[in-house]
Amino acid sequence: MSSCWGAGGSPGLLPAALMPPPVAQKCWLPGTQCITKHDHTKPKARELAFRKGDIVTIVEICEQKGWYKAKHNDTGEEGLLSASSVREREAIRVDPKLSLMPWFHGKISGVEAVQALQPPEDGLFLVRESIRHPGDYVLCVSFGKEVIHYRIIYQENRLSIDASVCFYNLIDMIEHYMKDQGAICTKLVKPKPKPGLKSAEDELAKAGWLLKLQHLTLGDKIGEGEFGAVLQGEYMGQKVAVKNIKCDVTAQAFLAETAAMTKVRHKNLVQLLGVILHNGLYIVMEYMSKGNLVNFLRTRGRSVLQPKQLIQFALDISQGMDYLESKKLVHRDLAARNILISEENVAKVSDFGLAKVDPKGVDATKLPVKWTAPEALKNNKFSTKSDVWSYGILLWELFSYGRAPYSKMTLKEVTEMVEKGYRMEAPEECPPSLYTLMKSCWETEPGKRPSFRKLTEKLQKELKHIRDS
Ligand code: AMP
Repeated sequence: MSSCWGAGGSPGLLPAALMPPPVAQKCWLPGTQCITKHDHTKPKARELAFRKGDIVTIVEICEQKGWYKAKHNDTGEEGLLSASSVREREAIRVDPKLSLMPWFHGKISGVEAVQALQPPEDGLFLVRESIRHPGDYVLCVSFGKEVIHYRIIYQENRLSIDASVCFYNLIDMIEHYMKDQGAICTKLVKPKPKPGLKSAEDELAKAGWLLKLQHLTLGDKIGEGEFGAVLQGEYMGQKVAVKNIKCDVTAQAFLAETAAMTKVRHKNLVQLLGVILHNGLYIVMEYMSKGNLVNFLRTRGRSVLQPKQLIQFALDISQGMDYLESKKLVHRDLAARNILISEENVAKVSDFGLAKVDPKGVDATKLPVKWTAPEALKNNKFSTKSDVWSYGILLWELFSYGRAPYSKMTLKEVTEMVEKGYRMEAPEECPPSLYTLMKSCWETEPGKRPSFRKLTEKLQKELKHIRDS
């Protein structure tokens, strides 16, 4: 640990173990991203310079109360700052009005577009759906005293105005013409938002979750998700994992997941670092070097992994889930494939893909049937208790070292048999107390299943028992 100002009342660093627990006063842990509250452009020696609204990362907690060593996310400089000059990033509210494309007005006529772009202002723009050419779009740009309408042709999964430059989606196209006039009358300057919509970009920036593309370096592909590749990367010297969602409709749907992730911060949940609106949407997360739990278990197996390690993973996950419950979030897709393992062998819950506050419910054809509780499958009744059912399946995966549950049964058979009371046998050599725990998660009556708090307590006792024996 580096030293701060040394003796004489100036801040010095205290080993983390000696830090007082964060009781009444807010105490930010290293890694927390904060927003600066005011300008501090004439720093004293060793202090960090910043402007109001800049984002900084807490690096270390100083011995003197209320001081931190922090790194500026834009300049990369490190220095000291006082706690009173920063606030933590805010959570983004899950709001259907939040849009990645607030300039998209849907099906309106050319005349309505002209009206929407009043008073004239060079570079003011919107995009509408073409009424005359269904499937195509129109970019409407105010220039001089006129509004110019450019037809955007959709062909072979690409969008283009003049065939010389093609785009995967409208977000990319707009981003391009805001930087480069190309073949159109002027660079796009200002989006005209559709009434009632809020710009997700503005809201993310205000709350401090928008990261800068120039600080991101992308590396190798480390996984493939349902919506595209997951890449390894580096953001301001920190190893990160990046999900890139290219399709604008999917990216919009992912805003709910992203918003949910801004609400949470826990050692057993994969941390969202921020997002970048480029090439669709980049979701930047903490990097979990040992990959997902299924692969971790399968590649190591019984000879390497002791029951104690498995119980520790089970405890990590139930602690993460207990916290998620406290934030009133239901995961809906808890399974070993959605647990990631850090360099230090800490298990963290990831993929809040379905953890959305979705008023329309979930598409039943997309449900992970073998992990989903009967009441959720049948009546769409998702709750923390349906997460507990999935947690029971996850425990089974864990103690069978990554085997697929109900491996010899079809989805239809699983649904029918489970409904009739069938439950999986204990995995080979599974400690009986753990199998009892699994079965308690598979009670038909959701109210009879244990809470994550109770599961955590039981697992802590199990672990203590192993340590003492
Ligand atoms: P997902 O799209 O979240 O299902 O991720 C697909 C795969 O990418 C996972 O199974 C992991 O192997 C990998 N992956 C996802 N997120 C991360 C991360 N934060 N760190 C390391 N690997 C990840």
